[in-house]
Amino acid sequence: MRVPFIAGNWKMFKTTAEAVAFADEFKKLYQGTDVRAAICAPFTQLAALKASFKGTDIKLGAQNMHFEDEGAFTGEVSTNMLKEIGVDYCIIGHSERRQYFNETDETVNKKVAKAFAAGIVPILCVGEVLEERDAGKAFDVVKKQLTGALSGLGADLVRKIVIAYEPVWAIGTGRTATPEQANEMCAYIRKLVEELYDDLTADDVIIQYGGSVKPANASDIMNMDEIDGALVGGASLNAKEFMEIINF
Ligand code: 13P
Repeated sequence: MRVPFIAGNWKMFKTTAEAVAFADEFKKLYQGTDVRAAICAPFTQLAALKASFKGTDIKLGAQNMHFEDEGAFTGEVSTNMLKEIGVDYCIIGHSERRQYFNETDETVNKKVAKAFAAGIVPILCVGEVLEERDAGKAFDVVKKQLTGALSGLGADLVRKIVIAYEPVWAIGTGRTATPEQANEMCAYIRKLVEELYDDLTADDVIIQYGGSVKPANASDIMNMDEIDGALVGGASLNAKEFMEIINF
């Protein structure tokens, strides 16, 4: 039985003071639900959020990590550093990292493997750009990203992964994929996991949709059969809006 999972991706928003103010408001609204909720915050806000969320079951995520334990990698953060804070999840391969920071299927694969080794659950992002969708290549693009990301990983790990389907053309644009489009790709992703592994693994994998999820469209998206959750950008910055999405 898959537990619905709604995660906020704050991207490069909120100072520590703003993050703590959010947490204070969000904790009051959050009464415990059947939905798993997480905030994926910038590195510098993680420790403060961990302290603020203490005593609740609100989960914490990072937005990136390095695949090496340590070393001369200026500006990077390791899984040991994240584990020490108590991070549960890490977004890996977000389209913004692929687009602006040279993230490739190969680095995504190394990071997914490393996250698992460290006991951090990867939220693996896949999704096509508009030209790829218009050219009828969306499914091929997602297949390549997914097979690349999971290369060499066993079913025992993959059954615990979270996959976020985020069509790039729907991110921050206000242009949401229709629930049917999102569901179709999430179904395709689950089928791919079944082909690569087996039906039990495919049954366990949590598949989120991301791209302009708002309180107004959350229930239509979340009620689709193959969609288990959402990765929410802009609307997760506001505690009330994020809570409305969780209460879809
Ligand atoms: P928006 O919800 O702001 O479109 O962002 C989606 C996203 O990129 C989440 O990772």
